[in-house]
Amino acid sequence: MTERLFKVIIIGDPTVGKTSFVQRYVQDSFRRDYKGTVGVDFALKILKWSDSETIKLQLWDIAGQERFTWMTRVYYKDAQGCIIMFDLTNRNSFLNTLKWKKDVDSKCTLEDGSPIPCMLLANKCDLPHRQVDQLEIEKLYKEHNFTGWTETSAKEGLMVTDSMRFLVDVMMKQK
Ligand code: GDP
Ligand code: MG
Repeated sequence: MTERLFKVIIIGDPTVGKTSFVQRYVQDSFRRDYKGTVGVDFALKILKWSDSETIKLQLWDIAGQERFTWMTRVYYKDAQGCIIMFDLTNRNSFLNTLKWKKDVDSKCTLEDGSPIPCMLLANKCDLPHRQVDQLEIEKLYKEHNFTGWTETSAKEGLMVTDSMRFLVDVMMKQK
């Protein structure tokens, strides 16, 4: 049995649903080990990937420090995958995903120097009154080299597991 450990960071503007997404994804095994010093919540998800492979995902969730850039280098260090999330009903949070992507790419690379895989998640798809349409998301995802994008609802549990599976698949293939 081989075991792989991946560090995945979840970023995006405040209130887009990052913590709800992590909680939904890890369900029972969610541990709120709050690290006040770096403003981070950690959660661990263990996946049985195949008969011979187990994956440990260490999910890093910024705990209300989204506007403090002083902690980001620590936060980004050695991350192998990234989720950038916005809220479909909050246009600003969509526009800011570019800022987050640039921040990740400038502070974090894989060992070979390439950017880390980054999923763009359009959360709160269960809500009416969207402020962002699919064509815009598609365009941004393509032009800024995201690994993939999908709508999600942390509230309803829509595409939460699937989007993480997609990211894990990419991370597994790159080593
Ligand atoms: P964070 O600041 O990015 O960690 O966001 P939170 O996870 O704390 O969520 C902020 C608010 O949005 C809370 O009131 C959540 O209940 C709500 N929320 C999160 N995800 C969803 C979702 O998919 N749909 C809806 N309707 N509300 C959500
Ligand atoms: Mg949070």
